[in-house]
Amino acid sequence: MILKKYKSGRGHRCILRCDVCSYQFDKIYAIIKDNINHCCSSKCHFILLGKKRKELNNQKSIFKKFDTEQECYWLGYIYGDGCLIIDRGYKYISVICKSSDKKHLQKLANWCSVSLNERSSFDKRTKKKYFAIQMRITNELDCNLLQSKGLKSRKSVLSMKIPNIDKSCIHHFIRGYFDADGSVGIFKRKSHNDQLRFSICNGHPDILENIAQYLRFKCNSILTVNKHSSANCWIIATAGNSVCYQLYNYLYQDASIYLKRKQQIFEKFYEKYT
Ligand SMILES: [Zn+2]
Repeated sequence: MILKKYKSGRGHRCILRCDVCSYQFDKIYAIIKDNINHCCSSKCHFILLGKKRKELNNQKSIFKKFDTEQECYWLGYIYGDGCLIIDRGYKYISVICKSSDKKHLQKLANWCSVSLNERSSFDKRTKKKYFAIQMRITNELDCNLLQSKGLKSRKSVLSMKIPNIDKSCIHHFIRGYFDADGSVGIFKRKSHNDQLRFSICNGHPDILENIAQYLRFKCNSILTVNKHSSANCWIIATAGNSVCYQLYNYLYQDASIYLKRKQQIFEKFYEKYT
C-alpha cells in the first residue's frame, strides 16, 4: 500500500506499507505502481506469491468454450474496447467506455463480479475534461484464455483476427465489436429519403478485413476496408438502406445483449421505412 509520495534530495520517493507484514519502508518513486502489491523483503514476496498461487487454484474462469452469446458478444466487445495489460508479470484486461454507456459496461462488470471505476482525462486539443468508465478483469485464468484467443496488448499496431469461436456465434462477436468500435447514424438528404450509414474502425486493418469477409458473405454486400482519410485508422463503411437492413438482421438475430443506443437507431429507422 502506498502511504505517501514525496520529493527528497534524492529524487521522488514513496513511503510504502508491506502488503504482507505491514512493515513501513521507502522506495524510489519512479518504480512504484499503484496497482500492484508491495513487499518489504523477498521473504514477504514469496509469502505473497504462495497466497496468489492458492487464489489462482480457487479461481474459476468466466469464459469457457466460446459457444454462447454472452461469451462471444463480450469477447468481441473486449476486442474492440478492451486492452490486455502486462505489467511486470501482473496481467489484467482493462475495458473503458464513455460515461454515457456506463449501464452497458455494468452488465459485463456484473458478469465478471468486478466493479466499475470512474476516471477523468483531459483532452489538450479541446481543452475539456472527459469522464470515462473503466473496469478491470484481473482473473488470471480469463486473462490467459483471452490472450490465447489472440487478444493483444498493443492492439492498434498488431494484427488481430476474429478468434476461433463457435461458428454459430460469430455474429455475436461482430456485434460486440461493432458496439465497441462501430457506429451507425442517419444521414439527412434534401432531395432523397434519409439514409442509414454503418461503419467500424480500427488502427489495424486485419481484423476489419476478417469482419468484412463475413459480412460480405452473410449480407451479400460489397464491403471493403479502406484507410480513413483524416484519422489515422482503417474503416469499413457502407451506406444504403437495404444493405444496412441486411447487416441489422444478421448482427441482431437471436440477440439479447447489445448496446441499446445503437440498436435503437436501426430499429427506429426501419420502423419508419418498412
Ligand atoms: Zn513485509
